[in-house]
Amino acid sequence: MKIGVLALQGAVREHIHHIELSGHEGVAIKRVEQLSTIDGLILPGGESTTLRRLMDLYGFKEALQQSALPMFGTCAGLIVLAKEIVGEEGYLNKLDITVQRNSFGRQVDSFESELDVQGIAPDIEGVFIRAPHIESTHGEASVLSKVGEKIVAVQEGRYLGVSFHPELTDDYRVTQYFIEKIVKPACLKNN
Ligand code: GLN
Repeated sequence: MKIGVLALQGAVREHIHHIELSGHEGVAIKRVEQLSTIDGLILPGGESTTLRRLMDLYGFKEALQQSALPMFGTCAGLIVLAKEIVGEEGYLNKLDITVQRNSFGRQVDSFESELDVQGIAPDIEGVFIRAPHIESTHGEASVLSKVGEKIVAVQEGRYLGVSFHPELTDDYRVTQYFIEKIVKPACLKNN
């Protein structure tokens, strides 16, 4: 599989490394024309207001709203995929969820937690950096993991979103899941 990583901001190289560890080809995506060459897309973390502005600027909003590419968003990437952002307008409207930005409080700006992620593994290393959480899921979106009462991983069909940064650890199982369980079956369906 050929998996793109939106390369406007964030840990692009780290995501590409995880794609390669999963046994697939990773490519940095800087222009919308490249979208037709990939099987799935990862939206990295960073700062979602800046990310949205850059996506507007380079034409990614329209292109991705119209696209049926499987997508995986981490942290700010999750925010960008959501239908609803508390206090702001939703952006790509792919995941039927409501997200709250920066929701773990100042004292715990960043933390790590071992996560039980349904369908993936009971011991996923979660690195949270000024992370959002998913306040509620609607329709077909299903909860894959929580930290206490807060939802931190969801899937809805070909869209996967997590509050944390798997790419900043050696644990590439979430990326592997995205490719093997979401991108591959979606490709088979399309062909
Ligand atoms: N706090 C950022 C935002 O709201 C997300 C942080 C991240 O991606 N690490 O956009």
